Amino acid sequence: MVSSSQRITLKTLTPLWTGGVDQTSDRLHETGLIGSLRWWYEALVRGLGGYACDPTSEDRCPDKDGKHCVACELFGCTGWGRKFRLRALNEQGQPIEDALAENITFHLEFLELRPITEEEKWLLTKSVEIAARYGALGGKTTLKPQKGKIGEDYGIVQIITLPNIARPDIPRFLSQFRQVTPKDAADLRWFFFIKGSFLWRKQMNDLMGLSENGQEITGNKHYQQFLRGRRGDATHDAISKKLFSFRADGGCIWGYARDAKMRDEISHQIKQTLGTGKYTVKTGEEVLREL
Ligand SMILES: [Zn+2]
Repeated sequence: MVSSSQRITLKTLTPLWTGGVDQTSDRLHETGLIGSLRWWYEALVRGLGGYACDPTSEDRCPDKDGKHCVACELFGCTGWGRKFRLRALNEQGQPIEDALAENITFHLEFLELRPITEEEKWLLTKSVEIAARYGALGGKTTLKPQKGKIGEDYGIVQIITLPNIARPDIPRFLSQFRQVTPKDAADLRWFFFIKGSFLWRKQMNDLMGLSENGQEITGNKHYQQFLRGRRGDATHDAISKKLFSFRADGGCIWGYARDAKMRDEISHQIKQTLGTGKYTVKTGEEVLREL
């Protein structure tokens, strides 16, 4: 069997923490990256009108009939293996053993274990592109990779080269898989991306309706409840927050809402907080139109 591989070349703008513990044959460091890529892939799929399960929820794939969603088709689920192996390689093509420092060029190599369709290659490449251009990559905490001190940025990268794949018939492809809509799942349409500015911790907490130290609830607007998520306790699972800010590379702020109305309300509140300045605001719908 001939297997092919595809490479994407990126450069770190902050350290990249790729740590994680894996049960499979992958090297230790790739799990965090895979988890992060899958998260962006799911958000993209939903944004394009498809469905993706939340692999951490009760309703994850496979369903009782053994069907799985389009994200599990590529990334795997119980009884269905991931279609690729991911390696992080340095410029000499050697596997990277440790966390990456900043200003390091590296390759993500996707080695096909089973045939990956053109649609999947396109979706995967676009997921990396969106994560790199607008979000962050890797880490134990998918959304705000963090390892060291609180406030240190991790996972901000710059794209060096991406494969150029003609856009296939995505809606037709997406319609073939299990349809499942997890509650409050990330959908790229409802994302907001601000470039060229960042929020201080106090400003973040204020937007999420939390006191300065983040310990007490001070606001209960719907968007604030949604953004701050919830701490876990004996009877409830934790729900991740949905607002992130990085200072690296001129700053960026991003996150997502439940729908377009909430997204626009949050963008408005962030602009109020930032005041005038040289930053740009983009919606996920705009990002999708440019793909
Ligand atoms: Zn699934």
